[in-house]
Amino acid sequence: MRVLKFGGTSVGKPENMQMVSDIINRDDEQKIVVLSAVSGTTNSLVAIGEELYKGYQAKALLLVDELYSRYELFLKNLYKKDEFYQRGKSAVDLQFAEIRGMIGEPFTDKEERVLLSKGELMSTQMFSWFLTENGFDNNLIWALDFMSVDEDHEPDMTAIRPKLAKILDDNRQKNLLITQGYICRNAEDEVDNLKRGGSDYTASLIGAAVNAKDIQIWTDIDGMHNNDPRIVDKTAPIPHISFDEAAELAYFGAKILHPATIRPAMDFKIPVRLLNTMDPEAAGTIISEAK
Ligand code: ASP
Ligand code: MG
Repeated sequence: MRVLKFGGTSVGKPENMQMVSDIINRDDEQKIVVLSAVSGTTNSLVAIGEELYKGYQAKALLLVDELYSRYELFLKNLYKKDEFYQRGKSAVDLQFAEIRGMIGEPFTDKEERVLLSKGELMSTQMFSWFLTENGFDNNLIWALDFMSVDEDHEPDMTAIRPKLAKILDDNRQKNLLITQGYICRNAEDEVDNLKRGGSDYTASLIGAAVNAKDIQIWTDIDGMHNNDPRIVDKTAPIPHISFDEAAELAYFGAKILHPATIRPAMDFKIPVRLLNTMDPEAAGTIISEAK
């Protein structure tokens, strides 16, 4: 079993979803595919939440309408057959109906967490129907059914592991399992999340829970660089670093991985590969035990 996580840009356009499909269908090894929300979505949901906190219902509605227009266009360009367009669209419409239902109602932290979960719930359903339309058998598995945090908001491995094992057993015949990054349940069984950028962390927790061969983090840059490519001109990807070095880099603010991601992989000695969806043949970076 391998775990492959694709970030917001990797699922940010229909063309990019096609690239993700090409990558995960290169062989028929069993995979759990973790997706972020379509790029920009979580930021928009945060902005909608801010308006709802302030009681600015009209402004919130405007932002919801704007976001919905983006999804309408995305759906039109994603599917070829009306049947699959309709399936993708109903999944998205259902989430938007719930978002719209929050307008004019009391809005607390609890509603905000439900609001923030919508991005990953939509990207995964859209992608799953896209795979099905293209003849790739897959099943959606729901992060809210197995990913959880305890009272201290720490991932609850003793709960995650058996739940996921049961789900995998029920899906033995499926080579491709698609799931949501970022979202989880908390100790009160409410919808919660692993904090911004948390999809990496989801992938690493799943990798540890199923003892995966590796955890692949697919983004839009070719691995970890020896300098910050946004600041320094000529940077090069580092082919291999140790867990300790990666943890240190993340701790010091290297923006490539959610900082908690390394820990579960390190504890269970599962190599983490950083790869580039836009350049799938590039070697990227391997984070593993010793050099
Ligand atoms: N969609 C969430 C965020 O933007 C989680 C993620 O992309 O990892 O923070
Ligand atoms: Mg994101």
